[in-house]
Amino acid sequence: MQSVILGKTGLNVSRLSFGGIPIQRADAANTRAVVDQLEQHGVNFLDTARGYTVSEDYLGAALEGRRDHFILATKSMSRDYAGMQKDIDASLADLRTGHIELYQLHNLSERDFDRAFGPEGAYRALAEAKAAGKIGHIGVTTHSADALRRLVEEYGDRLETVMFPYNIVETQGHDVLAQAQKRGIGTIAMKPLAGGNLEDAALALRFIAAAGVCDVILAGMGAPEEVARNAAVDLSAPFTAAEQAQAEAIRKTLGSTFCRRCGYCAPCPNGIDIPTNFLLANYLRRYGLADWARERYQALRYHAGSCVQCGACERRCPYGLPIRDMLGGVAKDFGY
Ligand code: SF4
Ligand code: SF4
Repeated sequence: MQSVILGKTGLNVSRLSFGGIPIQRADAANTRAVVDQLEQHGVNFLDTARGYTVSEDYLGAALEGRRDHFILATKSMSRDYAGMQKDIDASLADLRTGHIELYQLHNLSERDFDRAFGPEGAYRALAEAKAAGKIGHIGVTTHSADALRRLVEEYGDRLETVMFPYNIVETQGHDVLAQAQKRGIGTIAMKPLAGGNLEDAALALRFIAAAGVCDVILAGMGAPEEVARNAAVDLSAPFTAAEQAQAEAIRKTLGSTFCRRCGYCAPCPNGIDIPTNFLLANYLRRYGLADWARERYQALRYHAGSCVQCGACERRCPYGLPIRDMLGGVAKDFGY
């Protein structure tokens, strides 16, 4: 397995790394089998989150007796000091470890910056945990290209990694990720298969490796076969002209109807979080996480079915997506 130094963290991690979302649909025994495969294939960097329900706990159990063979990353949605302190301790307990190599602010958006980086914010708790040796490094994950740019430009001195979607149909972070690398910030690609929209895993992973702006490719893997399939991909071989043409064809097919979660369509006057509605529909349709998706959909304050067809969002979507029709599909699939 190819390895890479993850920016200024200095961590020596596998280029292909493990994302823990799909562990939620596994059981404890299956998680152990996944970790066996990861170990066998030299995938040593594992990422999970407080928000991925049982993922930290199952991974913690599966890592018992071999914790030091892996480098762990997790993350929390807490934005305030006390909440982050509590979450770090909960992660340490669930992962059954005294030290987590990378702890991240999860899914940060611009409106969170003042709070998270302020004097009573989550970042201070992370910095204190780092000084105390509970965590090794501090990173951030976001889905917004504008937030990513500001994080790198304004907060880059305080961050050691950034995680952002990067795949055949989502390259909007390219220039900022390159800028992050120049500043020594480790770059982690999430959603390499575009939320399950890309079926050819080898093509998808090799596309990211060849783009050269992501140190690590984080693929969600919930079954041992997925680990074996992804680990078999040669990430160092050149991306051929034929593969470029394939990628371009996929972009053309998916490009017109695929939500990139950039957030430009907001605000919806009816309060609908448009990209999250699309994201949960993808989980329902493609990830085999129907119960998980239904639960989160139900927890949304406003659902696709409450769209009043005003069209304001479509005028703001830079990709020209037929948002009203797409939301109609979401409402149909979830039933409201
Ligand atoms: S068309 Fe629907 S989703 Fe779009 S802004 Fe109007 S109410 Fe919101
Ligand atoms: S619907 Fe369009 S504007 Fe809204 S998040 Fe998706 S791609 Fe961006």
